[in-house]
Amino acid sequence: MKAAAFTKALPALAEVPFDIPHVQNLVVGAGPAGYAVVSSLLDAGSQPIAWVDPEFRSGRLASYLDVPSNTKVKLFEKFATTPLCTSKGAETAVEDFKVKARRGMISSLALNNGIWDINQGLLTADRVFLATGSHPRDDQLYPGPTTVPLDDALIPSKLSGRVTPDDTVCVVGSSHSAILVLMNLLEMQNGPRAVNLYRSSLKYAKFRSDGTIILDNTGLKGSAADWAREKVDSGELERMGKLRRIDTTKHDPAEALKACTKLVTAVGFERNALPEMSVNGKQLQDIQHDKHTGTIIPDKLFGFGIAFPEEVTDAEFGHKEANVGLWKFMRFARRQYTNEGKPDLFYCNI
Ligand SMILES: Cc1cc2nc3c(=O)[nH]c(=O)nc-3n(C[C@H](O)[C@H](O)[C@H](O)COP(=O)(O)OP(=O)(O)OC[C@H]3O[C@@H](n4cnc5c(N)ncnc54)[C@H](O)[C@@H]3O)c2cc1C
Repeated sequence: MKAAAFTKALPALAEVPFDIPHVQNLVVGAGPAGYAVVSSLLDAGSQPIAWVDPEFRSGRLASYLDVPSNTKVKLFEKFATTPLCTSKGAETAVEDFKVKARRGMISSLALNNGIWDINQGLLTADRVFLATGSHPRDDQLYPGPTTVPLDDALIPSKLSGRVTPDDTVCVVGSSHSAILVLMNLLEMQNGPRAVNLYRSSLKYAKFRSDGTIILDNTGLKGSAADWAREKVDSGELERMGKLRRIDTTKHDPAEALKACTKLVTAVGFERNALPEMSVNGKQLQDIQHDKHTGTIIPDKLFGFGIAFPEEVTDAEFGHKEANVGLWKFMRFARRQYTNEGKPDLFYCNI
């Protein structure tokens, strides 16, 4: 209720421009990463903050309310109860004019002599934080079958309207999303058959007694992991003739694809389009962030969240992973910005 009221109360940028000409920080995006950055900046006393998002509905996570979580409940609780990151906290901050929040899009960012000009004269800012999110990649890997968008395939009620019992649905990938789609298809009453094209075998996250999680970002968790173990890795669905799995590093999928009438691609995410950006008149291209601090331009431009993930090393296998998830965003933002607003890798209060 409070979150809804907060969202409704926010004015649209097009109707109510910002009423101050300059802020210390501009935060672009109000998904989980945007919330984490704003709450950390507030705790650091780094204000005022201008905050812009077209909807203020918690970003992409709001699209997955019917999707089984891969986050343990206690971590959702930690995210929601960390000071100032609740909607109540944000609401109070808005009332206190520490945060100026507007619904809208940031289309251009021009850094001139150390000061950002936002949307060509909308306001100026010392620092900009991009928490602009990502969307599912839509690589046309296998042309032919009719595409079902991943976001529809993840939600059982939407998926059932997109497939018939006569379909054979090809699902590309072996990630958490791919397994959720297979689960939705193959647990559907009178559901279709499925073909799964994959390049790496199924991996499962492992929860250690010391609190660390092995394959935390790439391993299956929760109900997706339970289902995959029981029905896929056991070979049960293949024996029943409902699922055919093809390792495309070893076998050509062309023959199996001929039977596919629908296609769902679940091969990862890519950054949403960024605002046009320039530095002293020169266009910024090929944006790279420091994967340990989020810095894009020191002291001026930072990236957070799924679009600019922190890189972590898996404690058992030693490979690098992008650290993506609500609690991880919060921990990362706190590590960077709660030390009097100055990046400090060695400070962490949560
Ligand atoms: C199937 C599935 C299940 C998942 N389950 C979980 C889970 O259980 N736990 C978990 O922690 N994560 C989960 N995730 C991941 C989670 O959805 C993402 O990690 C999270 O939404 C990313 O947050 P973000 O803030 O970086 O980006 P987003 O949530 O994408 O938010 C970005 C926001 O920025 C706005 N924006 C973009 N450009 C501009 C602009 N120019 N101006 C203004 N605003 C802009 C967007 O409109 C959006 O509101 C899941 C993902 C999938 C696909």
